Amino acid sequence: MKEERIGLFGGTFNPIHSGHLRAAEIVQKRLLLDKILFIPSYIPPHKDSVEITSPAHRLKMVELALRSYPHFAPSSIEVDAKEKSYSIITLGKIKKLYPKAKTFFVLGVDAFLEIDTWKNHENVLEQCFFVVISRPGFQLIDAETAFSGMHREKMLELPEPEIINDDALLKFRIFLMPIDALNIASTDIRKKLRRGESVKTMVPDVVVSYIKENNLYQS
Ligand code: ATP
Ligand code: MG
Repeated sequence: MKEERIGLFGGTFNPIHSGHLRAAEIVQKRLLLDKILFIPSYIPPHKDSVEITSPAHRLKMVELALRSYPHFAPSSIEVDAKEKSYSIITLGKIKKLYPKAKTFFVLGVDAFLEIDTWKNHENVLEQCFFVVISRPGFQLIDAETAFSGMHREKMLELPEPEIINDDALLKFRIFLMPIDALNIASTDIRKKLRRGESVKTMVPDVVVSYIKENNLYQS
């Protein structure tokens, strides 16, 4: 049987938006992933937590948004841990749940540019593949100079229609994937909601309703 391929898409998801969903759809297809787990963080390691909505609300919005996507599933692994989430710890837990799967860490280039600040990032890179996706406002090419670790030679920029086959997986560890990303960020959504503006075009309807019902992101 072919090894399962699982994508891990972490974030604060404060809130989840159509940019996340679009990016994950493209990655799922091009990597032939069986599943992508969306993993909201408990207390995000790289952000000041003043503006952070409760983990329970963020997880709930992820659950609602993913209902219509058969290949996507929410994971409460970090929220349940109730402590600061480190990728290395999360990855260890996922590996226990899916011992035979190939795992792919999916992240935007903005997040990848901070990789040097992650705890044990070399170790994370040894244990799973990375898929770095483009995002408006950031240059994918900057990923190449972002870190000088030992996996630097194992980076491959993946041209548009190409699918990652097993041969590429033997040679490379970090895939730079230009995607047709949407120019949407949770920061802008929170700003709009504070001003009482509509976010209908940026967030799935079920999430818009949830935000309204729970009075989230009010000033
Ligand atoms: P914030 O503005 O609060 O930082 P965000 O929109 O960046 O929110 P995050 O939860 O921080 O969302 O991002 C989770 C992951 O999704 C990160 O790896 C990020 O790079 C990626 N990502 C977020 N928005 C997009 C987008 N529009 N296109 C592609 N990737 C995205
Ligand atoms: Mg972000």
